Amino acid sequence: MPVKENRQGRIVILSGVFCREGSMQVEFAEEVLNYSITRLQNYSIPMNPTTEPTTLTSATFEDLIREMIVRLGEDPNREGLQLTPERVRKSLQFLTRGYSEDPETLLKGALFTVSYDEMVIVKDIEMFSLCEHHLLPFFGKVHVAYIPNGKVIGLSKVPRLIELFSRRLQIQERLTTQIAETIQKVIEPQGVGVVIEARHLCMMMRGVEKQHSEAVTSSMLGCFREEQETRQEFLSLIRQRSNSV
Ligand SMILES: [Zn+2]
Repeated sequence: MPVKENRQGRIVILSGVFCREGSMQVEFAEEVLNYSITRLQNYSIPMNPTTEPTTLTSATFEDLIREMIVRLGEDPNREGLQLTPERVRKSLQFLTRGYSEDPETLLKGALFTVSYDEMVIVKDIEMFSLCEHHLLPFFGKVHVAYIPNGKVIGLSKVPRLIELFSRRLQIQERLTTQIAETIQKVIEPQGVGVVIEARHLCMMMRGVEKQHSEAVTSSMLGCFREEQETRQEFLSLIRQRSNSV
């Protein structure tokens, strides 16, 4: 009986034009369903699905930048702007290259077994990213700490992980949690803390009074979330400025 109910459910979802009774129609409907799924599986989905009109999808990246320059009221053929479309394409590809790397693979390649169970801190790591709302840079410092639970990662992997996630279109909050959650998932430490202090050009360049404002985000997992003492130790260690070392 449950199977029959399932079948009916599938047909209703598929389309209203099929009759819900009679085995012939049920089979027919299932054939259509399977056929559609096969078609979908065989259909090579483009890397960047788009709903833009075909006139835009057939344009090159450079064409689009040239068009943007025109719409901003400039002459794309002016000497200084002639190579700008190509430069913009290259620089945007560079700034978003973090999509092509897998964060877990990166960390798994440098896992070491240890008996050390004190806090590991990597602080003041420079970070440059692009805000996904305005495609303008935000940049600042990232501080990462974790307490191992039998495993550590090579210290250089922490900046690499930050680099990987920051070279994507981001918001600071997501960047913070992605770094923390990846470390938590791969190293399985007792806890992780991530703090990012950053300045956003979309705020600084558009509002005179916000030029010196800094956004601070944090993500605390495991013992960093549960134990106030651990969290405080981390926060006080990152507040010690580099010149005191
Ligand atoms: Zn922004």
